[in-house]
Amino acid sequence: MFKVNDNYCKLPATYLFTEIARRVNTFQQENPDAKIIRMGIGDVTRPIIPASIDALHNAVDDQADSSTFHGYGPEQGYDFLRSRIAECDYAKRGIHVDINEIFVSDGAKSDTGNIGDILSIDNIVAVTDPVYPVYVDTNVMAGRAGDFDGQHWSNIVYIPCTAENSFIPSLPERRPDIIYLCYPNNPTGTTLTRDQLKVWVDYARANGSLILFDSAYEAYIREENVPHSIYEIEGAREVAIEFRSFSKTAGFTGLRCGYVVVPKELKGVDANGNDVYLNPPLNRRQTTKFNGASYLVQRGAAAIYTSRGQEQIKATIDYYMKNASMLLDGLKSIGIEAFGGVNAPYVWLKTPSGLSSWEFFDKLLRDAKVVGTPGVGFGPSGEGYFRLTAFSSHEATSEAVERITALKI
Ligand code: PLP
Repeated sequence: MFKVNDNYCKLPATYLFTEIARRVNTFQQENPDAKIIRMGIGDVTRPIIPASIDALHNAVDDQADSSTFHGYGPEQGYDFLRSRIAECDYAKRGIHVDINEIFVSDGAKSDTGNIGDILSIDNIVAVTDPVYPVYVDTNVMAGRAGDFDGQHWSNIVYIPCTAENSFIPSLPERRPDIIYLCYPNNPTGTTLTRDQLKVWVDYARANGSLILFDSAYEAYIREENVPHSIYEIEGAREVAIEFRSFSKTAGFTGLRCGYVVVPKELKGVDANGNDVYLNPPLNRRQTTKFNGASYLVQRGAAAIYTSRGQEQIKATIDYYMKNASMLLDGLKSIGIEAFGGVNAPYVWLKTPSGLSSWEFFDKLLRDAKVVGTPGVGFGPSGEGYFRLTAFSSHEATSEAVERITALKI
């Protein structure tokens, strides 16, 4: 009999969003007239900006004519998009990223999950806790995580980020080979300043560690001292891979497009201790396992870099960020400690009256008919916290704030 990858058998069931759906469905069945406001899943709701829609339409027309038809494209992405990325996301901020260091993909979930293909399974991985679950689960699938005790994986180093340390991760006691950092952070919505991120770049340089830097929420950064790219930090090109996504920047959650940057200087070692640069193996991986993001989608993505596109995505992001500030103000007005929401579309709150994450979930659903995400679903240090997203409409957000502030908590 053939054998399956045992690592998949070790993975606990994806409990979080299934359990949320189960509780919401039960409540809705028992209360058919209840108007539930959903602020749980981190998906956008505003339509794709007109600049991208026009580009998508034009790209469809290109496919209808043999003179403009595009079949298989470059696996790394079209130059028309990679050159815009290099120019607008990096050069304009004084950062040099070569076009050959950029790999366009179908999104940051795939990229953060796939990067492990080119890294040895012997590496020790560190994550901040709470964490975007993909980093942990994909390492479990690869066999890098060890055993699960119901809360922690034995080979994963967890770095707690809670109100006690102002959500600033401390350097780990046990040296990790690979460190996942996500800023602005999902789920906490918090950020690191340049100086705080530099601590990690310096640590990685001193310890031969690799930083996997996920900046899927870069477009939400408002404050001056928050870096837009890890490559703003001196020396980061030698130790960091950066992931970006058009999902939250431009509403591409359904269209699918993102990219990863692997600088030419970045190197690890093979089993014999010989230097290996990471850009060629990633190129090899992409050309072997991926046939490129869709031509249409890449045209749509390139359009966000036009001045019209930039204005339009800014308006959409401003829209969501107005929701975030409504949420923050509302929560604070009733004495709930709330974090994030300034440079990110997530508000992370401390559950009141010592309620557990799930107890607060049930209370909010029952008494305010608002759905959020229990913090414990993102890792043990998320217990006692709760995430609300800013991706609803103004009307729904303001209604949710009214209902929450009316609660006796
Ligand atoms: N990284 C983080 C931190 C996210 O929160 C998400 C989506 O929620 C992703 C990556 C996935 O992005 P994409 O839609 O590009 O796959």
